[in-house]
Amino acid sequence: MRQLIAGNWKMNGKLADGAALAASLDAQAGDLACDLLICPPATLLATLAAQLSGSKIHVGAQDCHAKPSGAHTGDISAPMLRDAGAAWVILGHSERRADHGESDAVVLAKVLAAVAAGLAPIVCVGETEAQRLAGEQNTVVALQLTGSLPPDFAGVVAYEPVWAIGTGRTPSEADVAEMHAHIRATLVSHLGATGGGLRILYGGSVKPSNAAALMSLPEVGGALVGGASLVAADFLAIAHASDAVATGVRAG
Ligand code: PEP
Repeated sequence: MRQLIAGNWKMNGKLADGAALAASLDAQAGDLACDLLICPPATLLATLAAQLSGSKIHVGAQDCHAKPSGAHTGDISAPMLRDAGAAWVILGHSERRADHGESDAVVLAKVLAAVAAGLAPIVCVGETEAQRLAGEQNTVVALQLTGSLPPDFAGVVAYEPVWAIGTGRTPSEADVAEMHAHIRATLVSHLGATGGGLRILYGGSVKPSNAAALMSLPEVGGALVGGASLVAADFLAIAHASDAVATGVRAG
């Protein structure tokens, strides 16, 4: 399965910084065996989508509203993101679940809106540290998956333990492998055969030094990268670590 290395720029980047980072990625990406995606802030989408048109780097958004238009001040709909040049959208990120109170039902509505607009969704799930310490991670993640994914879901899932995001901490390789196997089993039971073929990304403090180990784990279909996606050399090093796994050459 071709891995997806996705960069979540979060609320970072003005026009000049974003254009420079995208140009740097485009100039250095070369031939990759993985898919490369950047998700800049919505303010940069149209510019970067135009700048990268014809490039191998895909462009996506970080969220969308569930409705196609209407009286929702400050929100942006999936058709508007598509119109701006986005092809993908991250949904249900833990920062949105926490900061904006997004429930699984809200995420599900957004997934349906994204797909209807022609956007490929990346749906994030993951437990808090308290839930892991209580041994509840498998239940929490299964409930998020069954509550957030429609029965015909054909997008990407990202497992992002909340406590690993932006902290420099990651679960052990055994814990990542165990959770990805659990997610695979849940996807197959919820979605049938389609669930066996969907990519499951790992996200949470992925960096050049741990990417090769994480990307080579069973059922890991790529990475969702936050902080390290803001530095071209680091993001590309992660992509090259994924490539090394695909070609059987273990980097570092
Ligand atoms: C994220 O927020 O999606 C993420 C994985 O962040 P970081 O890589 O900085 O932990």
